[in-house]
Amino acid sequence: MPDLDFDVIVIGGGHAGCEAASAAARAGASTLLLTHRADTIGTMSCNPAIGGLGKGHLVREIDALDGLMGRVADLSGIQFRLLNRKKGPAVRGPRTQADRALYKTHMQTAISSTSGLTVLEGDAYDLVMDGNEVRAVETADGRLICSRSVVITTGTFLRGLIHIGNEKTPSGRMGEAPSIGLSDRFAALGLRLGRLKTGTPARLDGRSIAWDRIGVQEADEDPVPFSFMTESITNRQIVCGVTRTTDETHRIIRDNIQRSAMYSGEIKGIGPRYCPSIEDKIVRFGDRDGHQIFLEPEGLDDDTVYPNGISTSLPLDVQEAFIRSIPGLEDVAIRQPGYAIEYDFVDPTQLDHRLAVRGLTGLFLAGQINGTTGYEEAAAQGLVAGLNAARSSLSAEPVRFSRTDSYIGVMIDDLISFGVTEPYRMFTSRAEYRLSLRADNADQRLTPLAIELGICSDARRGRYEAYEAALGNGRAALRNVSLTPNEAESFGLSLNKDGVRRSAYDLLARSDVEFFDLGRIWPDLNAIDERAKDALKIEAGYSVYLERQESSIADIRRDEAREIPPDFRFEGISGLSNEIVIKLNRFKPLNIAQAAAIEGMTPAALALILVHLKKRG
Ligand code: FAD
Repeated sequence: MPDLDFDVIVIGGGHAGCEAASAAARAGASTLLLTHRADTIGTMSCNPAIGGLGKGHLVREIDALDGLMGRVADLSGIQFRLLNRKKGPAVRGPRTQADRALYKTHMQTAISSTSGLTVLEGDAYDLVMDGNEVRAVETADGRLICSRSVVITTGTFLRGLIHIGNEKTPSGRMGEAPSIGLSDRFAALGLRLGRLKTGTPARLDGRSIAWDRIGVQEADEDPVPFSFMTESITNRQIVCGVTRTTDETHRIIRDNIQRSAMYSGEIKGIGPRYCPSIEDKIVRFGDRDGHQIFLEPEGLDDDTVYPNGISTSLPLDVQEAFIRSIPGLEDVAIRQPGYAIEYDFVDPTQLDHRLAVRGLTGLFLAGQINGTTGYEEAAAQGLVAGLNAARSSLSAEPVRFSRTDSYIGVMIDDLISFGVTEPYRMFTSRAEYRLSLRADNADQRLTPLAIELGICSDARRGRYEAYEAALGNGRAALRNVSLTPNEAESFGLSLNKDGVRRSAYDLLARSDVEFFDLGRIWPDLNAIDERAKDALKIEAGYSVYLERQESSIADIRRDEAREIPPDFRFEGISGLSNEIVIKLNRFKPLNIAQAAAIEGMTPAALALILVHLKKRG
């Protein structure tokens, strides 16, 4: 007899698990979140920050689907910054540093207030299968919990092994036991597992830092919230410190490199290339100008400091020596040493678009277990897996996200089509349709879907529908009025003297025209909703490029069957990034359609390849 019975069981209360459990419950499934400890739900294992380039898009998309991460980040953010502010809206990255304790508290509140969601503490040790179908989860203390769908989100815990110098400790995270049984079950089910690693820096006592001897980084004056539902950011915003490694830092690290777990051969797993340890930076990228370090306070009432940029697996005595060679940190006290962690992951090419394991019924995987790195990547997968697990248990149609509708779709397609050779993280360059997949229009792209699927709260639905109506009215009002170049001149606007009438929408597409200018010509336009004005300005600005993107996609579609000869050299094509060239050489596409399917391939890159193929004749 089972001890309990649910439609969906989510194992793990990290970033993937919280979104999975919330999405499953919102989709109408009776859901259990089974995790080691209720008080670690929503823990940020490494850096106290949410968002960034590419990652910020994922958070906006999670929010548009009424997920939790954006709202929780808004409630706990203490240093909001819009990255790439000077570049186009398509590549801007909302980011906030979070108060670690507040983040956890608000996430736990969100979970405990979700109806249909139960939290239980326990170590999921094994899966009970009936042939290829999941039937139940067994905990280490012998409880049996039945469910037709199980979502596993165990992060870095699967056979986790912490390294500090040559010391090794089996752990899922500093001070927490690893998860062993599930890895054995995966192996018994014939799943291919691999080994990856990641690392974290020492945590510092902020009272021992000489803040007056280092630079500062301020928060934005006008913090931009992640969530469509957040009116304004109310937390006090803080400044971070900025300092750099010195020649002495580099000398100490080079002299002791063989004592680093990574360089002594202790660690076999591959680490994240885009988030390298300080050892890696010095060995691989040299040490001419020093490496920048951000000193990020971990909370409003916490004087622990996270030194972003010096993750390490060197022994503690070397960590102390090199950290104290950094300006401002000469007398610093270390509260927790940096460490590296190795863990098992499941090769994600064994999953389908729902993040379900192919060939099995009812087993879904999400988060770091699929070879990704980062809270946002984990959370976005959790939402997809939890939603589909619920729909599978409730016999509803699966939901598939595509590369054309979301970064979520890009990430899932990358993972299940190409797998990972190193921890996968999101970048805007991975999205070939990034002009249309912007952070600012995530709600328009995805909230209608959330409404259709019934996972959206009434409050969001009401607010979204009002916004959508304001956008529609605003767009119509802009298209309804027009003027000739001569009429424009009388308002101080200089246009091509071609006699063509231009609508207010056409004028808004120009970088030198703002709503303020239009309001002087057509005062009625001042009545357009303020939020809709911002969105319409961006939309109009992109309309020309989007038309071009559409026509270039159409050109490429016409040429999809064009063959790429085996001796064709991608290296010779100027304008192709090194990353794309490496991928093209690895996957050796036989035609344009196959090249188009390569992760991170853009319409512009395909157009370049086509031009060179045509030149060759
Ligand atoms: P986690 O957040 O790890 O959550 C896993 C949850 O599952 C935990 O609550 C755990 O208690 C629970 N659990 C595990 N096994 C079981 C079980 N058998 N039964 C019940 N509950 C279980 N990301 C970056 O982007 N950049 C970095 O530099 C970076 N460095 C990192 C360094 C370290 C040392 C660590 C540990 C992580 C680092 N990360 C980094 C990764 C980031 O923490 C993860 O990507 C993210 O937390 C993954 O989310 P998740 O939900 O998949 O798993």
